[in-house]
Amino acid sequence: MAVWNLGSINEDRFYRVPRLPGPGETLTATRFSVGLGGKGANQSVAVAKAGSTARHIGRIGPEGAWARDSLKALGVDVGFVIQGEVPTGHANVHVDNAGENMIVIYPGANRAFELPQIETALAKARPGDFLLLQNETNLTREAAQKAKEKGLFVVYSAAPFEAGPARAMLPFVDILALNEIEAGQLSADVGVAVDELPVARLLVTRGAAGAVLHDHAAGKVHTVAAFPVDPLDTTGAGDCFVGYVVAGLDQGLSPVDALRLGAAAAALQVTRPGTSEAIPDRAEVTAFLD
Ligand code: ADP
Repeated sequence: MAVWNLGSINEDRFYRVPRLPGPGETLTATRFSVGLGGKGANQSVAVAKAGSTARHIGRIGPEGAWARDSLKALGVDVGFVIQGEVPTGHANVHVDNAGENMIVIYPGANRAFELPQIETALAKARPGDFLLLQNETNLTREAAQKAKEKGLFVVYSAAPFEAGPARAMLPFVDILALNEIEAGQLSADVGVAVDELPVARLLVTRGAAGAVLHDHAAGKVHTVAAFPVDPLDTTGAGDCFVGYVVAGLDQGLSPVDALRLGAAAAALQVTRPGTSEAIPDRAEVTAFLD
């Protein structure tokens, strides 16, 4: 089966600063680097590195061909990534010497999707394929609805979290993936306990405390511990985890084994700098689990 992903593609610009600037202040960065980012791109890379077919539905601007090429070089099918007039999304990430960060995201092309692009892509999908969604693109609800009509399995990471859009997605989602903070925010908004959120399956990641899958559809709860590692940079851990879990399910693993695969991949990812480039490949994850 294929894993489709309506997802963001960003240019991540990392600035190392001695401390985070205050209002009205100008600071000189001591280091600068650029990389491929965006929650969507990171999840597609995780799916591809896990050994499943990742088909990215994305948008880039006139200067964004390098990002599409990078995704392709990482094993992602970019046949449904369209280049348009709206500039490629980017994230300005300022990190100080204590590791604290301050991030500004310009969504750009990631919020310029039009329905025909999504319909054209999903017309090629088959029942049983997966569709991944996050909150960095527009038209997520419409895409989820269409995917459900076609018999796809919809996995939605409700991040960056916004209560309204997240609530509207619940009826169309097979797995809702949230970290613990987001799960708390959504449960407060809906007014029920986290494990009572009205969705078929709820996957809550808890950083170094592991993850829990509330499978309401099957009446089961699965937990997985995190693997003990010395984390260097936990940015993107959730996207690596979700991508690997979905690839595991796509490859026929049981929910528990898919969760374990995701936890192992994310444990390796947090020991390395960067986001998409820190995602391990399947052979490394398998060796780690042996
Ligand atoms: P997010 O990046 O979305 O906030 P989490 O921080 O909950 O997500 O991390 C997602 C998963 O990554 C966790 O469930 C865990 O398996 C793994 N992980 C995150 N932080 C660590 C860590 N410090 N040590 C080991 N595994 C980790």
